[in-house]
Amino acid sequence: MGTMLDVTGLGHTYDGRQAHTAMSDLTFTVASGELTCIVGPSGCGKSTLLRCIARLVEPSRGQVHLHGDLVREVPEDLAVVFQDYSRSLFPWMSVRGNIEFPLRSRGLSKAERRERATETLGWVGLADAAAKYPWQLSGGMQQRVAIARALACRPALLLMDEPFASVDAQTRFDLEDLLLRVRKEQDTTVLLVTHDIDESVYLGDRVLVLSQAPAEIVADLPVELGDDRDQITTRESETFVHLRGEIARLLRDTPIPDSTSSQAAHRG
Ligand code: ADP
Repeated sequence: MGTMLDVTGLGHTYDGRQAHTAMSDLTFTVASGELTCIVGPSGCGKSTLLRCIARLVEPSRGQVHLHGDLVREVPEDLAVVFQDYSRSLFPWMSVRGNIEFPLRSRGLSKAERRERATETLGWVGLADAAAKYPWQLSGGMQQRVAIARALACRPALLLMDEPFASVDAQTRFDLEDLLLRVRKEQDTTVLLVTHDIDESVYLGDRVLVLSQAPAEIVADLPVELGDDRDQITTRESETFVHLRGEIARLLRDTPIPDSTSSQAAHRG
């Protein structure tokens, strides 16, 4: 397994009347085909990390390499799924239109775009909803459209920012299982951030635990739960219960990093 994502010394300070260091110095890699979860308290800098990797925000420090290439602008073969599906889909376009739209700028012909949309809608179980509009669908279905749209680009890396935080508990379980199935079938590399410890363990091949802001990696834990996971039995298993306890303890006991000293260290 090669390295898909290589993050080195990545840090970001939001400028403003009071400069705020959201992330001081993050270094980690994600292997090709791996699903890595990042868990950390709200406001610790998880979204900032994803935005810096996707180059939606220009990081203050550090470097990101995607399949060996230094990332300087938004990479073509990277897709992001955000929490807020209602704002990420175009309400005036059909489901098919939403999925085909980003493929236009990637130079696919009309026939290819159509084929891709049909294929990915099949993956997420929405083959029959192609002609519908987002507002005619439930929240969970809309998020499936957003996932299909991301996958239609055949991304080298799929970034997911709290993708299931806005849906009810049962839909959340269904979407988690959909992600596990699709990423296995398509061998997609995924980096997913969540503040939900249980979700990070259930989904991840590996969990990176972040401290409070400015985010630092306090642990990098392999999840030895195998590929076949089940919402009830996996969550009852000894491995699951032990790991969620370990992460909860880490999040509770990790002291808040001193932002002044970490900023000073980076200036030096
Ligand atoms: P998380 O995703 O872990 O909840 P964020 O990355 O959204 O955390 O935010 C980390 C910190 O950076 C928070 O304190 C937040 O208020 C601050 N922040 C986020 N975006 C901006 C911005 N555009 N300008 C200034 N501060 C920001």
